[in-house]
Amino acid sequence: MTMVEGESRPAETGEPLVVLEGVNKWFGKLHVLQDINLTIKRGEVVVVIGPSGSGKSTLCRAINRLETIDEGSITLDGQPLPQEGKALAHLRAEVGMVFQSFNLFAHKSILENVTLGPIKVRKKSRAEAETRGKELLDRVGIGHQADKYPAQLSGGQQQRVAIARALAMDPKVMLFDEPTSALDPEMIKEVLDVMVDLAERGMTMVVVTHEMGFARTAADRVLFMADGQVVEENTPEQFFTNPQSDRAKDFLGKIL
Ligand code: ADP
Ligand code: MG
Repeated sequence: MTMVEGESRPAETGEPLVVLEGVNKWFGKLHVLQDINLTIKRGEVVVVIGPSGSGKSTLCRAINRLETIDEGSITLDGQPLPQEGKALAHLRAEVGMVFQSFNLFAHKSILENVTLGPIKVRKKSRAEAETRGKELLDRVGIGHQADKYPAQLSGGQQQRVAIARALAMDPKVMLFDEPTSALDPEMIKEVLDVMVDLAERGMTMVVVTHEMGFARTAADRVLFMADGQVVEENTPEQFFTNPQSDRAKDFLGKIL
């Protein structure tokens, strides 16, 4: 991936962080995840692309335990995903998720949106959570809007708050499920810029997106999914210039 000059990755870069082994899931008769084996290394940025309905969202949701799996295992930092209770709340903190729809708390201020989780789940003091929250809002360019409410912000601004809110939990990995798909075109770049910055800081990221510019700039690896399977896996350079499967060639032909 691209690195800012002089910046180095954390020492532990490269160890397996999220590991999926033999993961299968069905929705009734639909075999939505078919024998997925995937290792995401610490500091790695993995872009997942593929046609609608191929299982990309389900894959992300399984890593965050928003969906259960029927077979196989998923581990985070060597630990199986917890099933319930406090441990599950902690997992959701460790695996930050940003959705297409920003899902901010509508009746909380922007600052409260980013401090609530750290206070409740991470047991930080309000002062500590606010200092860190303001720092993160500054980082995503929303610092001066901290006292506003979500509806007063544009879609791009709300999505940047959603990213700051996830980061405030000190996640080990960030999942992005089509984070720019609901945005007006002029707002896409401001969100992608925040994501590129995050990638350059060494965050481990799984990003479902059709933004090829982002994939080329930030991804270490592209996964192409179709019909519940990882059909192809390659560097962005190789994937975009020399796709191997007919499914990938067909898909790229439609979107590029
Ligand atoms: P993608 O994100 O690649 O578009 P999804 O993971 O959202 O794909 O969905 C994969 C398939 O599973 C689709 O056919 C979708 O209709 C189906 N699906 C997703 N969620 C559910 C659910 N909760 N119940 C039943 N079917 C679902
Ligand atoms: Mg989806």
